[in-house]
Amino acid sequence: MPSIPLALRASVPTLLLLLPLTAQAPTTQPLPEDRRAGAATVDVDLCKQWLGALASQEFEGRGTGQPGFQKAADFVAAHFRDLGLEARGDGGSYFQRVPWGRTQIDADKTFVEFRDRRDGVVRIPAARLAGSASVAMSASGDVLLLCVDPPASVPEGRSTAPAIPGLDAVDAEGKVVVAYVRTGDDKSALAMARFAVLQGLQGKNAAAVLFAQSDAVPEGLRGGRGASRRSNPAAAAARRQPLDATFGGDDLQALLRAGGQSPAVLAGSVLATPLPLRGTVEVAIDEQAAPAMNVWAVLPGSDAKLRDEYVVVGSHLDHLGKRGETIFAGADDDGSGTTGVMAVARMFAKNPVKPERSVLFVCFCGEESGLIGSAFFADNCPIPLSSIVGELQMDMIGRDEEENAEGNQGEKAEDNRNSLHLVGSQKLSPALHELCLAANARAGFDLEYDEERMFGRSDHANFAQKGVPIAFFFTGLHRDYHRPSDTPDKIHYEKLLRVARYVYDIAFELATAPGRPEIDPDLWRSYRGKRGGDPAAPMRGAR
Ligand SMILES: [Zn+2]
Repeated sequence: MPSIPLALRASVPTLLLLLPLTAQAPTTQPLPEDRRAGAATVDVDLCKQWLGALASQEFEGRGTGQPGFQKAADFVAAHFRDLGLEARGDGGSYFQRVPWGRTQIDADKTFVEFRDRRDGVVRIPAARLAGSASVAMSASGDVLLLCVDPPASVPEGRSTAPAIPGLDAVDAEGKVVVAYVRTGDDKSALAMARFAVLQGLQGKNAAAVLFAQSDAVPEGLRGGRGASRRSNPAAAAARRQPLDATFGGDDLQALLRAGGQSPAVLAGSVLATPLPLRGTVEVAIDEQAAPAMNVWAVLPGSDAKLRDEYVVVGSHLDHLGKRGETIFAGADDDGSGTTGVMAVARMFAKNPVKPERSVLFVCFCGEESGLIGSAFFADNCPIPLSSIVGELQMDMIGRDEEENAEGNQGEKAEDNRNSLHLVGSQKLSPALHELCLAANARAGFDLEYDEERMFGRSDHANFAQKGVPIAFFFTGLHRDYHRPSDTPDKIHYEKLLRVARYVYDIAFELATAPGRPEIDPDLWRSYRGKRGGDPAAPMRGAR
């Protein structure tokens, strides 16, 4: 049964005052005998120890491509080794390397230039361009100045921006577009307006798109980190915007002067003004390989036949890393899920009874950069995708949902001590969902289903797209989401351990059950995110 609706909850506190405190404790039942011993080998102290290391200053927020990520990957690999799990990765390691590059801007060869017909030149060096560039670029074209207003309102959670009136009629073919957004100080409106400009210019084949602002820009152009474009199609798809550059201050005034425009044009009603200038954008980058790997291990199944089928238990190892001097510890995102994978791995490894099917434990990289590591894993899967009976993803399992920057107005952590979101389990395979519900009779969570909007926001999505049944375990967003304040001291460890035990229980069922969850034909047909015709897992009724 889903958790008590908010409206009803209002009346609960008075009720609670009447009931002895113990009534709030979740009703749980012991795990079945065959798996109980393994579960008992992990306690809260171990979880605190593992998460403490993952979210430590030493691991510097585990940014993919950064030294801190390599340390975290070695830490998890050592854990798998200590448990005696099989290493089937690159060169017999626990790693599947993901092509990842760190790009440095070559400032000497990077600049923007505007040239008039009398060879008058306005040259803006890399040091006076803010933003980032992830690929080399060389483009030129006539200059087109766009002056736009931000959208009236910023739609919550929408993935598209409201269109900018008149932009669809603008011809930007081969132009160097300079977009000036009249925003003042409203940062979210600025971000949405820039998004709206890029969205509106999509398909118009502009030679380059630059942004301009009234104030001088604070810092120079940064290189990027990311899956190296050359050998990683997932990265190619992810990087639709190779250059994100802004200039301002005197450089904008110089451009207007060279283009014969007064500053009033910026406040005027004209959307697009061609300038009698030729624009050139040169970006030179050096790309170095950077540490990026999925960390995975296998507990082989005990049955000669069924061991060729796998239950996948996953999390993402990476977080936002170190940015400037700021470390984003990522205790909940996803230090908690990786602690969960380490816990489930130990439970299976220490449990005397070995399931018939194999269990694959994996901590992905590049999740924060667009689910890059899991896309690479699913596209270059070390086992047949059809052999995966289910992917169980733990991402943010260590907190109690509360009001946050993305919404959930009115949600209080103290009301969610026992709540857990089960996301995506009803999307493809009702049998997997039923199994999760049955196991919850033992785990005793208040399961919630109101965060399906998060379906596409963690690594399971790359498996679902291929037609693998998935279940995503998520305790909800909170005020520290993607902030440096997402630290170990705020983790609800008892809950984290309960989620890990719950996932262990479900994985054990999947790894020992005679049959495997099938894909529902109607659900697959109506699932828009699918990639490919037939699902990797068997479809119900498809004999
Ligand atoms: Zn996450």
